[in-house]
Amino acid sequence: MKHHRFEKWLRNIYETREEEISCTECFDLVSRFVELESSGQDAAASMPQLRQHLDQCRACRDEYETLRDLRRLGDESGLPSVDDLRNSLS
Ligand SMILES: [Zn+2]
Repeated sequence: MKHHRFEKWLRNIYETREEEISCTECFDLVSRFVELESSGQDAAASMPQLRQHLDQCRACRDEYETLRDLRRLGDESGLPSVDDLRNSLS
């Protein structure tokens, strides 16, 4: 009985993990998320896993907020795109 419960618990963790994305995946996707958002689309609805990760991960949320702010600045002043800025930072 105890063993069965442990297995179930383990499976729950595994299944949860499977649905989550890693910071690396988040980093790859977050600029697209910002692009969707800035073009007026529902980014959270089309990329729910990314949204979930941003809610849970402080580092990626900072990254997202930085990109979002840069994107806004770019829209206002015609600065380089988010991807250009990221390339120059890395
Ligand atoms: Zn993360």
